[in-house]
Order: sequence, then C-alpha cells, then structure tokens
Amino acid sequence: MAETLAEAVSRRRTFAIIAHPDAGKTTLTEKLLLFGGAIQLAGEVKAKKDRIQTRSDWMKIERERGISVVTSVMTFEYEGNVFNILDTPGHEDFADDTYRTLTAVDAAVMVIDAAKGIEPRTLKLFEVCRMRDIPIITFINKMDRESRDPFEILDEVEEKLALDTAPITWPVGRSKTFCGSYNLADNTYRGSDTQVEPTPVNGPQAVADHLPENERQVFIDELELAREACRPFDREAFLEGHMTPVFFGSALKNFGVRDLINALGAYAPPPRDQVADIRTVHAAEDKMTAFVFKIQANMDPNHRDRIAFARICSGKLERGMKARLARTGKQLGLTAPQFFFASQRQLADTAYAGDVVGIPNHGTLRIGDTLTEGEPLVFQGVPNFSPEILRRVRLEDAMKAKKLKEALQQMAEEGVVQLFQPEDGSPAIVGVVGALQLDVLKERLSAEYGLPVSFEMSRFSVCRWISAEQVADLDKFMSSHRGDICRDLDGDPVFMAQDGFSLRYESERSPAIKMVAIKEYH
Ligand code: GDP
Repeated sequence: MAETLAEAVSRRRTFAIIAHPDAGKTTLTEKLLLFGGAIQLAGEVKAKKDRIQTRSDWMKIERERGISVVTSVMTFEYEGNVFNILDTPGHEDFADDTYRTLTAVDAAVMVIDAAKGIEPRTLKLFEVCRMRDIPIITFINKMDRESRDPFEILDEVEEKLALDTAPITWPVGRSKTFCGSYNLADNTYRGSDTQVEPTPVNGPQAVADHLPENERQVFIDELELAREACRPFDREAFLEGHMTPVFFGSALKNFGVRDLINALGAYAPPPRDQVADIRTVHAAEDKMTAFVFKIQANMDPNHRDRIAFARICSGKLERGMKARLARTGKQLGLTAPQFFFASQRQLADTAYAGDVVGIPNHGTLRIGDTLTEGEPLVFQGVPNFSPEILRRVRLEDAMKAKKLKEALQQMAEEGVVQLFQPEDGSPAIVGVVGALQLDVLKERLSAEYGLPVSFEMSRFSVCRWISAEQVADLDKFMSSHRGDICRDLDGDPVFMAQDGFSLRYESERSPAIKMVAIKEYH
C-alpha cells in the first residue's frame, strides 16, 4: 500500500551535529553515513570535500586553513527512517551560518571529546539549541583514548549546561581496553559497530569478561553506580530540552555509532511544528511549505548556479510544482529540486516535511525566504546577526564600481556578508561576524568577478537594527542621525555607532527606539 503523507513525515529525522572543532564531528558524520549504508567506504566525506575544494578556487581558503566553509546536507535511510544530517561549519567565524542551519533541524547530536569535556564552541552551540528547544543527544567520543571518568563528564554536562543526563550506554573499558558499550536500558552489549545486532547479556559479569582481570570489578561497580545514581531516560523531558540521553563511543574506532543511529530513530522527534507569522504549521499538513536557510554558490563550477537549501516544513514537495515566494508574492516553478547524498546529488521527485532540498536558482531566492502552495504565510525565526566587523570595500579599479555593487548584492543575498547602504549616499559598508568571512569575500570577488579589492576601516564598529512603536519616533531618530543610518538588504534601517560606548549613549538618550543585535528574517 502506498505510504500516507503522515507516515512519510513521521519517519523523517532531521538533525545537525554540534561540536567544538576536533571533537570528531567529521569522523562521526562519515561513520553515520557508513553504518547507515549511504557510503561504501568511510573517508568519502573527506574525499568529497577535497574534490570540491580542488574544483573551486575560492575554497582555497578553506583548504589552506583546514576548515569547512560549506554547509551541506546528507541523506540516508536506515531501518525505515530517513535521516537528514545538516552539516555546519565548525569555525566560529562562520557562526551565523551554523545558527541559521540550526533553525532547520529537529534535533542535534552533541559530540564531546571524552578527554576535554565541554569546550567553548560546544557551549555556544548548545545555547543556540536551547533557545530553540532543540532536543539533544550526547555522544561522548574518543573513548579509545585517555579520557575523563564518565561520571565526571556527566556531571560537567549537568553543571555547565544545566541539562539532566541519562546514560543509555556505558563504556566497557577505557582507552586501550575500551571494547564496546553496555546498554543500561535493555541489558545488551555491542562490541564494534560492525556488529549489527547487540548481544543480550545476563548481567554485567558476562561483559566484564571482555576486560583484563584488574578492570572487571571496576566495571561492575561502575555499572551498578550508574544504575543507582543516574536518572532514567524520560523522553518527554528530552523532547522539551531538559534531558539528554548519553552514548559513549569512538567514531574513529567504530564504537557506539550504531547506538547513536538507533537513538536518533527511536528518540529524536519527527519534523516539528514551525511558527509562521499568521499561524503554526504542522508537518503532516497536506500543503507544502518550506523556508530557505542557506544559499550556496558554485556547487558546480561548470554552471555558475546558486543552490538555495530549503527545509520543507509541511506536506510534500513534488518536482515540477509551483510555489509562492512570500517575499515577492511571485510563483516559482520547482523544476529541479535536488537531494544530496554522500557522494552525489540527485533530482528529487518527491520530498516530505523534514527533508531538505537544494533549489537551483539565479538569485531569485534569499536566506529566510518562505515558499508555500499559495497561502501568504511567512516563517519566523531565521536569524541575522549584527556584524562584529564593519568595513568599506576599496576597489583597485574605480571603473568597476557598478560591477562591485552587483557582486556585493549577490554576496549579501547568499549570506556571505551583510551589506549596508548609508542613507547619506556614501559608499556601502560590509559587515561580517568573523574575519574569515572577509577573506572569503575578497577571494570570491577576485576569482568570480575579476574584482580585486581591499578593505578599509569604517568609522563605525557596531550596528543595531532599529525600530519604534511610533513611526514618528523612528523618523525623528533617523533624521537627526542621518549620517549614522544605513539600510540593510531588505531596506530595514540600521543604526551605526563608532563603538559600544556611543551605542549605549544613543540608546539611553532615545528610549523610544528599539535597538536589536539579532534580526529575524521576515
Ligand atoms: P571535527 O573537527 O570535529 O570534524 O573532527 P574530526 O572528525 O576531523 O576529528 C579530529 C581528529 O580527531 C582527527 O584526527 C580524527 O581522526 C580524530 N578522532 C575523531 N574521532 C576519534 C575517536 O573516536 N578516537 C580517536 N582516537 N581519534 C578520533
């Protein structure tokens, strides 16, 4: 029998992996794809990255600095569920990209290096997940190496993140003697992930036999303590973001990854409701709705195309259908939506709520855009962060000013930089949250548009989006600060200040003006 829409939607699991750089996100992604059957050989994710990098010039930066600038999506199907992994750049200079991607997931896997515990980026990304009530599954990685005591790691998660922990598995052995996981919930043992089904065991003693003699009693005592002292898993608390199930493993040595895939299938939620301006949209509704959280240019250097990554929020997307673009009210034909697998992309004939499709376009779609089957609703919540760095772009060849203007507009639409047009007509200001984004801009302007540029300090260093209850208040503020007002890409007004001090001063002097550091696309 054909699958119903509700059935198709309910087996989607869309998630991101959050981690401090080096904790093992890439390795874990590879292994999820490997054991999920999406790739034949581990190493393909990296190999693919290398291939893309050599094909595209501007990605030199990425290669040289060993960072991943590209956010992409990978899909695999395992035991009846469809998993969409949304990859995020690890480097904090691309934090805005990561945060936007997190608006498109229903769950996150938090990878923690067992020797290092909670690191700064983990904490930051966790906070973003918490703000959005994204449930989190914890994977304590690198158990094959010298690590901290598991109880100590659990305590750290509880204290630093104010998050209850419920270990589902417990590590058998440590570093050199680490040999698998004991499932506290169903009393099974799995050695390496090459073992598909775990072995039922009659109590911990049988598993302890896998360990050297001097470690056996320690393991048995630990397991008993874990049972007594740790909280049992409560799915409601997990879905509300108060509790995290914890798994121990080693992505590199193939331990614990299957436990994690199974947990994603069993615990992680199906596509969540999404809040739009006029109502909340449920995933299993008939009509298709989606929003764009990422634009990627030059995925294929032979075609200078742009791919808009859209998260489907409800219904079913069918190739060839028409969708209404909320920002313009115009119809858009979805003639070639694409799915992404480990090593290739493929035309998507049908995609369901929870899925992410790439929509090729030539600049029609922007970050934050909503697509619907006609209903004039707009999804809320794709954030835009006020830049930390503001610069003027200096062009070596002044004759190319018009071309630069167009190029900057395109870069801004892709979310590479933010672009601010001063109201007084002076040259545009670009803003970024991390310095590496300026490097990407410079490289791309040169490689793709033949525009060598340099950056000059602007007299401003901070900016805020401004609004007011009364239009008159806003008008008054804007006219009395004309030299400090810009418009962003959407035409929204932005107040520019020399430094934090003058920003606070102006903000206190004008209480009717609301100044915000995060704008949600609308
Ligand atoms: P990312 O920066 O979070 O994507 O981390 P990577 O996956 O690139 O891993 C960083 C380094 O840690 C690499 O050298 C990996 O081989 C290594 N690594 C990842 N997982 C494990 C693990 O489970 N055990 C050990 N010993 N090394 C690991």
